[in-house]
Amino acid sequence: MSARVLVVDDILPNVKLLEAKLSCEYYDVITATSGQEALEKVETENPDIVLLDVMMPGMDGFEVCSRIKSNPEKAHIPVVMVTALTDVEDKVRGLEVGADDFLSKPIDDIALMARVRSLARLKMALDEWRLRENSANQFGVVTEKTNLMQEPVEGARILLVEDKDFDKNKIVQSLSQDLNIVMSVDNGMRAMELISSQDFDIMMVSLNLREEDGLRLCSHLRSNEKTRSLPIVMIAEQDDMPRVAHGLEIGAHDYILRPLEKNELIARVRTQIRRKRFQQRLRSSYEISLSMALTDSLTGLYNRRYLEVHLEKLIANNAHSNKALGVIMMDIDHFKSVNDTHGHKVGDEVLQVFAERLKNNLRSFDLVVRLGGEEFVAILPDVMPERAYFVAERLRRAIADEPVPCSVEGGFLNVTTSVGGAIINNGGHPIAAVLERADKCLYEAKHAGRNCSVFENKGKLDPEQYQEQERSFFDKEVEDALPPDDEDTNATQTQNGASS
Ligand code: GH3
Ligand code: MG
Ligand code: MG
Repeated sequence: MSARVLVVDDILPNVKLLEAKLSCEYYDVITATSGQEALEKVETENPDIVLLDVMMPGMDGFEVCSRIKSNPEKAHIPVVMVTALTDVEDKVRGLEVGADDFLSKPIDDIALMARVRSLARLKMALDEWRLRENSANQFGVVTEKTNLMQEPVEGARILLVEDKDFDKNKIVQSLSQDLNIVMSVDNGMRAMELISSQDFDIMMVSLNLREEDGLRLCSHLRSNEKTRSLPIVMIAEQDDMPRVAHGLEIGAHDYILRPLEKNELIARVRTQIRRKRFQQRLRSSYEISLSMALTDSLTGLYNRRYLEVHLEKLIANNAHSNKALGVIMMDIDHFKSVNDTHGHKVGDEVLQVFAERLKNNLRSFDLVVRLGGEEFVAILPDVMPERAYFVAERLRRAIADEPVPCSVEGGFLNVTTSVGGAIINNGGHPIAAVLERADKCLYEAKHAGRNCSVFENKGKLDPEQYQEQERSFFDKEVEDALPPDDEDTNATQTQNGASS
């Protein structure tokens, strides 16, 4: 995996040294020798990681880091501070302004490379979500801007695997400061049990467990579907660096060395919580955008784009199961005159009520779509022809029989709709052809005088014949509970019997 690393240090030989090391590992390296230049390069060069010296004349590393982190477009870029400072307070200060790690000079090569690789991976995952969010935005859906550093860091659920009582107590105490809930266990088996029944935001795993290898647990967590992306913070001894590097390699997110320092612990855990929540937010806003891209904003119904994808699946399913699909297309009658007479806003209100009535008169697994303008289609996934006729007439009546409330004088308008339908047997039909068959019938319904239903191979439906007996059809609860075929047959027989 290649990544673009920005190396920032005011001392040129330091820059050159890091550049050489990173280039050996095939990283693409860019450099800056002042804080100001670093910010410019972050802006123009889009680095994946910043390695940042702390002590620089003018703008120091803390300032540079906090500026990067307060820029919503750049805050997700990982920053590693590199410094001769060994004071724990400096380290914590760096972490608190949003640095992802704080490495001491002279730099341990193993630690550095493991860290860079691990952060590059995290960045890639975030980039992927940012990209998706971005393309979702291009569907025309604007989501709230997300900023990594504004994510709340309190109230996380943390699972700790540690068998040393002293450190265990220290961690539980330190982390409860942020209202975190810390559950601790002393072996991997117990950890896996808890994970299978509860959700955690992050995990901390000791690499110095007496009875087992904490790294093995980390690796297990990575291969388990549920915990694959759960952030892991390793807890290790100073001379465990090669194992820590290995841990980062297999996907742990961070580590902290003993003796544990309270503020460093808190800062590192906060970083992980923040990142996790940021990623979740990107993901959910992506999902929301996606659903918005597939629904119509005026009526909340699915749109044509969704219909095209979904109908194809329904047709394929029905080909397998030998079921028939009902397609019922509707177009409001003389809708243009509603707009012309009462204005576009009233037209919109009518469309909303129309959509609502369609939804209320179909079963939950029927699909209702606004095709565009004042054209709608209902798809009944598994239906006998007689049932489809009843449903078509039910929808037509749901509009015509009750005036539509809207902001006109008198408060109501009489609205009617024409309906065209087709029954699609045995699948294998292109979507366009399926819709066209129903559309053709709709056209006939318009010609037959509007406010009526016409079905393929059936002609204009007789409203008298397809009048439902109230209880059997409008009680949707009962309807959904009944096997549709039996009910259809009964209804048909009753109706036929009555009319003959
Ligand atoms: P017909 O009975 O033959 O269907 O006549 P119509 O007037 O309903 O049909 P036409 O296709 O001539 O007019 C449709 C009108 O629907 C024209 C357009 O302004 C209006 N329309 C389309 N989309 C919207 C919308 O989102 N809101 C509103 N208010 N009107 C819309
Ligand atoms: Mg119309
Ligand atoms: Mg029309």
